[in-house]
Amino acid sequence: MAQKFQTMSMPELHCPSCGAPLKLAYRFSQMVVCGFCDQTSHLENNGLVAKGEKQKLSDYGSKLYTGADGKILNRSMRVLGRLRYEYPDGFWDEWCIKFDDDDNFFWLQEDEGDYALFAEEQVSENLPAFEKAQVGVSYPFNGINFFVSEKNRGWIAGGEGELPHRVTPGEKADFIDGFIVGQQRQAAFELLSSGTQYFTGDVIQPENIDIKSKDYGF
Ligand SMILES: [Zn+2]
Repeated sequence: MAQKFQTMSMPELHCPSCGAPLKLAYRFSQMVVCGFCDQTSHLENNGLVAKGEKQKLSDYGSKLYTGADGKILNRSMRVLGRLRYEYPDGFWDEWCIKFDDDDNFFWLQEDEGDYALFAEEQVSENLPAFEKAQVGVSYPFNGINFFVSEKNRGWIAGGEGELPHRVTPGEKADFIDGFIVGQQRQAAFELLSSGTQYFTGDVIQPENIDIKSKDYGF
């Protein structure tokens, strides 16, 4: 059987806010949200440092949940956690996905019942500046033509679980969304205070997301 998850040996960690023991299972984890008190903490020098206000994410009946096992497009995966992004007109979630057969992590975007699976891409040239990018215009970038369909000011509402990025509830998260001209692919920039991230992704039909239901036995 393939090695399912990379584990690391770490000293036992405790939530800096409530003291609950928190286990980090993944070597790329940089952030964890306490499941008991909702405190976000960053992993720094092998210890946890509390960041930002406690944020409990409201539930909207998603079929995904933090810690879920299941399949996307028939590939076995686990949901490690999620980040919620807010903007003046609403919010969406990015579920952090670890496939059993891939060392990278992915983000399953859920926005009012629509899903798209994104991967972060390395970039070889400068991104369009937020102020300059215009909705309805395409820009040559990184060997593709990026068509801007939406841009907005946003912020991180909060998170859950164990995540590979250090973000803090309340920090800015402006975004430029669009697609790659000539391909049926989505592309998105997230302009965080730590820098700009570039993602490409594909629409996933809900029937191609198969989540094992929660085990309520303890
Ligand atoms: Zn806690």
